[in-house]
Amino acid sequence: MLDTDFFRRWMDATAVAVGREADRLTALDAAIGDADHGSNMRRGFTAVSDVLEKEAPTTPGAVLTLAGRQLISTVGGASGPLYGTLLRRTGKALGDAQEVSTDQLADALGAGVAAVAQLGGAHAGDKTMLDALLPAVEVLGASFGEARDAALAGALATVPLRARKGRASYLGERSIGHQDPGAASAVLLVGALVEASGTSGGGDA
Ligand code: ADP
Ligand code: MG
Repeated sequence: MLDTDFFRRWMDATAVAVGREADRLTALDAAIGDADHGSNMRRGFTAVSDVLEKEAPTTPGAVLTLAGRQLISTVGGASGPLYGTLLRRTGKALGDAQEVSTDQLADALGAGVAAVAQLGGAHAGDKTMLDALLPAVEVLGASFGEARDAALAGALATVPLRARKGRASYLGERSIGHQDPGAASAVLLVGALVEASGTSGGGDA
């Protein structure tokens, strides 16, 4: 079972990962956007870590709803409301349980991803964060490691796609040949589940 502490570790591990990879995320966004994705994510998740420490929410659902709210209020770019909605909706789906199973998390995250799709109007193959998130939630119940691998494969598969949503879509054909920055950051969010569970992703998540 996954307790409140696990969810805090998940958010903190995401903050560390986006801090470490911020330059790469920004470089990806420089190619097909406005070169702010790394700084957006770093600012947002630093604020998430800070508020979680300050307010110390006591359930998994409360950790994620607070994190989501914080992202929405601190990140100006498109990714703030989208990731904020993802975490808020996922947290809401977890309700006020003290502990949740991996399957419950997989279902809740599925609801969160559906909310992102609804908010942004994007579908699979539109070259967005959804291209990493959708395949990840499908296998998340099996293992976090598989989910991370699926997210990575989905992110890499955005390279040949033409962007149909967000800033990159303004480039049309010229968006082809670059990895979507939001898909790359989604890999970090999903990969942080493996780190939070303290496994190498080998299946006992
Ligand atoms: P901005 O585009 O406002 O500069 P960011 O650079 O932080 O914001 O985030 C860009 C990422 O947001 C994109 O790479 C893409 O993955 C994601 N994104 C943008 N629009 C959408 C959308 N409508 N649906 C899903 N994801 C989107
Ligand atoms: Mg940007």
